[in-house]
Amino acid sequence: MRTVLAWIVNLFFPQRCCLCGRVIAWRQTMCTDCLRDAPFVLPPVCDACGRGEDACTCRKRQRAFERCVMPFYYKDLGKKGIGQLKNAADYAVAQGFAAEMAEVVRREYGGIAFDCIVPVPQYYKDERRKGYNPAAVLARALSETMRIPYRASLRKLFHTTPQKELRAIERSGNLLGAFTVDEPQTVTGKTILLVDDTITTGATLDECAKMLKIYGAQAVYAVTAAASVKE
Ligand SMILES: [Zn+2]
Ligand SMILES: [Zn+2]
Repeated sequence: MRTVLAWIVNLFFPQRCCLCGRVIAWRQTMCTDCLRDAPFVLPPVCDACGRGEDACTCRKRQRAFERCVMPFYYKDLGKKGIGQLKNAADYAVAQGFAAEMAEVVRREYGGIAFDCIVPVPQYYKDERRKGYNPAAVLARALSETMRIPYRASLRKLFHTTPQKELRAIERSGNLLGAFTVDEPQTVTGKTILLVDDTITTGATLDECAKMLKIYGAQAVYAVTAAASVKE
């Protein structure tokens, strides 16, 4: 019934490509042109940072999260889409990314039963100034797509200098003690899918995963919409 209704709604409000706005077929989120030109991360991928093996710079560095995966590199359309997501809580863009993130999660994390999806949080004042947290918007869309419960288990305790403004060596120290777990019962013994919009060095995801594990998470797998890459 829901599908029939969605189909009828689509007749009057056609689905549009979340990146370029072109009218597209029902149930798609991106048009074929955008998908063809999108900077997809292609397998085989690094089993630590998730970039294609040719683009990996992590040297298999061990992190508190088991692995990270993502559908896109942060360039071209990947960069444009993330920009749209960060400049407005555009749920259509989030759904477009979520569809691709779900695909890569199924491909790379197939067989893992996730208990919940947790977004990387923002400090409440930063979130209030902006009105939303892009990582949370993505996590909600992914939760809907994958039918895995959404839990805002993590909280950020203070504002930190954006990671990209720091040198690599300053990045992990910058985040020390910045995150805490709000509802330990949503975390203890759970297998968690941790969501952020972009991975650069992985320091943010690492710090979040560390806290989740301190509070007893069994395993933490990360997924982002995009990964930074040398252009
Ligand atoms: Zn398009
Ligand atoms: Zn790597």
